[in-house]
Amino acid sequence: MIPASGSYQLTNVRVHRSLTPGFAEPFDADGFALADMSVADGKIASIRARGRSAQSDAIDLAGRIVLPCFVDCHTHIDKGHIWPRMPNPDGTFMGALTATGADRTSRWSAEDVARRMDFSLRSAYAHGTKALRTHLDSVPPQEEISWPVFETMRERWRGRIDLQAACLLGIEGVRDKAWFERLAKRVAAAKGVLGVVTYMVPDLEELLDEVFGQAIKHGLDLDFHADETDDVAAISLKKIAEASLWNGFDGNILVGHCCSLARQPDLEVLDTLDKVAKAGLAVVSLPMCNLYLQDRRNNGTTPRWRGVTLLHEMKARGIKVAVASDNTRDPFYAYGDLDMLEVYRMATRILHFDHPVGDWPKAVAATPAEVMRLDGAGTLAAGGSADFIVFKGRSWTELLSRPESDRIVVREGRAIERQLPDYAELDELMV
Ligand SMILES: [Zn+2]
Repeated sequence: MIPASGSYQLTNVRVHRSLTPGFAEPFDADGFALADMSVADGKIASIRARGRSAQSDAIDLAGRIVLPCFVDCHTHIDKGHIWPRMPNPDGTFMGALTATGADRTSRWSAEDVARRMDFSLRSAYAHGTKALRTHLDSVPPQEEISWPVFETMRERWRGRIDLQAACLLGIEGVRDKAWFERLAKRVAAAKGVLGVVTYMVPDLEELLDEVFGQAIKHGLDLDFHADETDDVAAISLKKIAEASLWNGFDGNILVGHCCSLARQPDLEVLDTLDKVAKAGLAVVSLPMCNLYLQDRRNNGTTPRWRGVTLLHEMKARGIKVAVASDNTRDPFYAYGDLDMLEVYRMATRILHFDHPVGDWPKAVAATPAEVMRLDGAGTLAAGGSADFIVFKGRSWTELLSRPESDRIVVREGRAIERQLPDYAELDELMV
């Protein structure tokens, strides 16, 4: 359907208001409009209202939805796919932490990490992702193994997936200031992002100051895992916002999870959201992983909450919000394939990204692209790279009811070979 020439016109393309800046035609109640899109030399030459400039040889998409390629801003492809050799014994957060730690210390050689990462990237690419940020477990000595692997992988994947990485360690690791400074330098050398996991420790404010201090010193953006718990006393999201304000930090900050916020009293929530908005933090929810780990009871009773944070309240205040894959087939989440359409479909159900859909599609494309400083990614606009996905669905109900396994992924104007890697490739790593 998509010509290999890289230059053509598509007609009857269904585009969404939230992802087509500069397209000013009327949209319907679902945010859609029909358009003609011209592609030349790997770029989008124009997007115009249907029929206004249709060529006789235009390819008729018959109203199929076309979205920009996805941006997945929170993943763990260093952990991905270890499930067969290291399952989570009980599905809990502690079970995940313990199992992953044991696997890391015994199995995460450079080759092991590289092969699993490559497998993950091939999946993400086939599903239509063009940029992806992974966290890298950076507990000694893993940082010396995984960061060089990341640098190699980023080069190997350049032009297909823009790969970013953030270091990952518990906030208590920051107490060793000399080591943490070395890590910050290593991250800066790799043009990475400084990341830590925050939870309530007595010296949290002091440790956050150290994190912000190193980020400022080395010119790094920040990426936190915060409050991945149902404990209402977990308020590290607020502490991050406060630390950002009093340190005068002006880089980008992305905070993931923030599960406990959904359990806290309204006044506490409002105070936190005021500070998060003022500090300009962006928040990413990981709906599939949260649903899996949070409120797991293991006592014969049924989970009663969804685990996700307050994305609607955040977006209403102008806080940038995204959703992302998080873990895939590891002890933190037994499933997943880095398919951002699946993430969006699940987010629609878990977080109610519907009635109205509004601009929620930005949460898997334009917004994470902004947070990751990827200029123009996650949108369809004249002059931008022709990186988009052609679906079968012509409406939200059609798009989100089937897996769309037969979607067409177009990169720089050409349809890619969408080959998902075979699980059997990993068998020899799983013994
Ligand atoms: Zn995570």
